[in-house]
Amino acid sequence: MSSYLNQDIMYVKGVGQTRAQLLASELKIRTVGDILHYFPFRHEDRTKVYHICDIHEGMQNIQLRGRIIDFSKLGEGAKRRLMATFTDGTGFITLVWFRNLRNIERMYRMGVDYQVFGEPKIFQHGFNIAHPEMEEMETVRNRPLLRMQPVYHLTEKLTAKGISSKLINQIVANALDKIQQLPETLSPDIVSAHQLVSHEQAIRDIHFSQSAEAVSRARRRLKFEELFFLQLSILQYARNRRTETEGWAFPRVGEKFLKFYQEALPFQLTGAQKRVVKEIHADLQSGRQMNRLLQGDVGSGKTIVAALIALLAIDNGFQACIMAPTEILAEQHYHGLSEQLESIGVRVELLTGNVKGKRRREVLEDLRLGAVHVLVGTHALIEPTVEFQNLGLAIIDEQHRFGVKQRAKLWQKNLRPPHVLVMTATPIPRTLAMTVYGDLDVSIIDELPPGRKPITTRHYSQYSRHRIREGVISELRRGRQVYIVYPLIEENERLDLLALEEGYENTIRDYSEWRVGKIHGKMKPAEKEAAMRDFSEGKTHILVSTTVIEVGVNVPNASVMIIENAERFGLAQLHQLRGRVGRGAEHSYCILVTKDQLQETTRERMQIMVETTDGFRIAEADLKFRGPGDIEGTAQSGLPFQLQIASLVGDSTLMSETREAAARIIEADPDESLPLYRIVWQRLRQLKEDLTNYSDIS
Ligand code: ADP
Ligand code: MG
Repeated sequence: MSSYLNQDIMYVKGVGQTRAQLLASELKIRTVGDILHYFPFRHEDRTKVYHICDIHEGMQNIQLRGRIIDFSKLGEGAKRRLMATFTDGTGFITLVWFRNLRNIERMYRMGVDYQVFGEPKIFQHGFNIAHPEMEEMETVRNRPLLRMQPVYHLTEKLTAKGISSKLINQIVANALDKIQQLPETLSPDIVSAHQLVSHEQAIRDIHFSQSAEAVSRARRRLKFEELFFLQLSILQYARNRRTETEGWAFPRVGEKFLKFYQEALPFQLTGAQKRVVKEIHADLQSGRQMNRLLQGDVGSGKTIVAALIALLAIDNGFQACIMAPTEILAEQHYHGLSEQLESIGVRVELLTGNVKGKRRREVLEDLRLGAVHVLVGTHALIEPTVEFQNLGLAIIDEQHRFGVKQRAKLWQKNLRPPHVLVMTATPIPRTLAMTVYGDLDVSIIDELPPGRKPITTRHYSQYSRHRIREGVISELRRGRQVYIVYPLIEENERLDLLALEEGYENTIRDYSEWRVGKIHGKMKPAEKEAAMRDFSEGKTHILVSTTVIEVGVNVPNASVMIIENAERFGLAQLHQLRGRVGRGAEHSYCILVTKDQLQETTRERMQIMVETTDGFRIAEADLKFRGPGDIEGTAQSGLPFQLQIASLVGDSTLMSETREAAARIIEADPDESLPLYRIVWQRLRQLKEDLTNYSDIS
């Protein structure tokens, strides 16, 4: 059986060499098994027939029954088209063709009953359907009815070469014809516990089905299967890594850690901070390599945790590195850490694109000799030219895309892989985090430091500037400072920069008694730093900026965050930006300025921001609003398999269910030897093999 499933698609009836090549290059369908697993993304109910009088705008493909009562030809040359008036007794609709006119005229006749299928579009005074699918009612009545017609994703090229959903479906039928029974892929206990239909049934129903219920059962089964093997593979990997990868042991809590903890700690740690330091410390003593995700909302105090952990590494004779997503943030970490740690004899150095020439050579040299204890920098740190004497710990701040592959690069930096701590303020739901970050253990700081001050958020239209201005001036008079943030995206960079410049000029004019600074990513590093310094030292009162201040920047005296064109930011970003205030002043304000006319979902997004400052609620809403696409793309890039039918974001319940099911098997059958689960392990091996084969090919 499996040999048939592995057979080249070319030999299936109706395919042949040309189509096989097309299917391979356009859809990566190469074998019989591949096409059986090429699932339709939706189904059309073909039992439903509409009346012409019920057609309205925005309908998708619909089915009509009636007759052509007249033909007419219009236009010349390339603009020629053939039109037919079609009626079912309840109204009239125009059918129109732009290509292949002569054949069509010959093929379709007046006075014959047809079933017509296509998408109605408004045209002039009525509706028309371009290039409809037409069948004589006679044929329709005589063929077995497939109620739920599958619709497959196709590319433009395939459509141009005449490969339609119908044809794909026909090929699947031809392939299935040769198959007595498709082997089951899940063990019987799982199938029954989760009330799944069999693999065979699901494959048949997803492609050929008479009822919407059967389709939905098939989808559930196939999604379950997909997510189950994803989870199984991740858990298997995590288990193997835990038992196999030796790590450096940091047995000592040494002099530097204690000295800092007892004498130099600038504040009392929160309970949550203490707890995660303990969790991490336990990992570091175990002799196994740590891979841990530290989640904590904006301002929850992750940096000090990073500093303490770095000291543990140093006390045990190792170096540590801290990687940040932007140069500004790296510089800020560098300044913060060197200030705190230099007094206890720890040398912190910075390595970014701005550190050049002699200075760079010195840093790299001292790093090799072990004279640098903590290296702070950007992505550049993982490059091979950066050599450590004895790297024991890598801390990665706010890098959502720092997946398994990048971490693997770190592993090359010492004889054994360093411990890895990934820190993030983007709280994604736990199961999703565990799936996306695969093999990471998760620690959470779920408590903000005491004395966090309330932030009031308001949403204004851009026409309410005078009201905003009153509030801002009263804060400025209290001696507070203000951020004004403009969006800047690459695709629109030039216009966005213009908007920022204009905003800067307007701000200077509107707030003429105060000093206004400006900062954006296109400025020279020295200019940026100067602008940032002026603001944090209170020399400027208002800072007009792009999102370069998004992550990590800390100016406690700032109490107002104005976000211009707030509709262009995602919720997570708005939350990050808002986190820049509420750090010192008794009361802070976040002002979201948008255009007047907003889409409903945008209005809702602003409303969420006004209602809550809870990072987890915002993250959940964010998932809902952004829909699967965005996160899904980023998230999927870190997965061992690409998902065909299930969605990481949309199928979260099924994801937890499958994770539990997979965890039970990992526990029940640690040696992968129970006869009951043979079928499951075999399937997992096969999926992995397919994966390696494909990466060889493409
Ligand atoms: P994030 O988790 O967003 O990286 P930071 O580490 O930048 O947060 O901390 C935010 C602010 O809170 C900093 O000014 C930091 O000094 C302060 N902070 C952190 N922990 C505490 C604490 N336990 N008590 C008081 N202030 C703290
Ligand atoms: Mg931070």
